Amino acid sequence: MTLKRSFTKVLILAALLVSFQNGAPVDKSVSPLEATSSPEDTTAFKPRPTPVTTTTEFNYTVTVDDPQNSLGADRDLILKNLQAACQDWGRYIYGKAPIRILVRINNDQARFSGASRTSVFLKTANGHNVFEDIAPYKLRTGKDPEPRLPDIYLDINVNFMRQAYWIDPQPETRTLPVPVGKVDLVTVFAHELGHALGFNGFLERSTGAVPAHNGISVFDSLMYETNLSGSPVFTGTKTLSAYGSKLPVTFFTFPDSRTNTYSIAGVNYVATLHPSQNLTHYGRYTASNESEKSLQGLMGGAWLFRADQGLRIRVSNLDAAVLCDIGVPCR
Ligand SMILES: [Zn+2]
Repeated sequence: MTLKRSFTKVLILAALLVSFQNGAPVDKSVSPLEATSSPEDTTAFKPRPTPVTTTTEFNYTVTVDDPQNSLGADRDLILKNLQAACQDWGRYIYGKAPIRILVRINNDQARFSGASRTSVFLKTANGHNVFEDIAPYKLRTGKDPEPRLPDIYLDINVNFMRQAYWIDPQPETRTLPVPVGKVDLVTVFAHELGHALGFNGFLERSTGAVPAHNGISVFDSLMYETNLSGSPVFTGTKTLSAYGSKLPVTFFTFPDSRTNTYSIAGVNYVATLHPSQNLTHYGRYTASNESEKSLQGLMGGAWLFRADQGLRIRVSNLDAAVLCDIGVPCR
């Protein structure tokens, strides 16, 4: 995406959020969605005032930038899937300020992506400048330095979604079986939110090297042995407690994708390993004694598929522990 395009989007969003905050009619392409709305509440998509900030809830708003209506007739259901993903994280985390999520249509990227819009300088550690993503920064501090801008971008490749993902028709219960070969959309949203909330770094993916600008993320700052000969691990104390040992971080040293098979509790799984997932996920997928917590976790670097059912993963206390260690308030 070019700088110009990004800037245009920001301007559009700024205008829309002003409308939203004033309670004025909002463009048809925009739907705020609040965490406190029940799934059956047909008023869920109406503009509402800025949510009340509390210290015990994970509050958020969702705005959709979809002027071509690429999401089509499933639009509201897709947003309810996103709501379910937010609520899944909300079982573990909360914040001092609501997070603004902007959903964008981006069919140029391979799949979905999620990221904080920007990061802020936090501290210097071991000679590096540590930056904190804006979403966890807001949750942690309650400060909102740029109240007209989104905190999180969720970019959707609609074609890929239709091909590979399954839109849960009942995301409030998440009990319907996921079709074979598909990934539950709530799972995908929750995973991308995990990146936006802090599973994110600046280290060079294939070597672990600190970039020339010497900036690293909070997530990076809690990793050790992030070099070619090492076995990177995440060392946060809450993660240590949740996992039982230092958490292996995804770091595949082969240059392209590999397919591995696994047998866990008598069930066979297949996973595709790719170095593009390095250093922002957990799981090494090579050690025979690796815990199922990392092999089958939401923020794992390779999802394990079984032949007889699709994939649904919920946020676990391990996923939450990593965010807790990087500063997100946890229950
Ligand atoms: Zn990921």
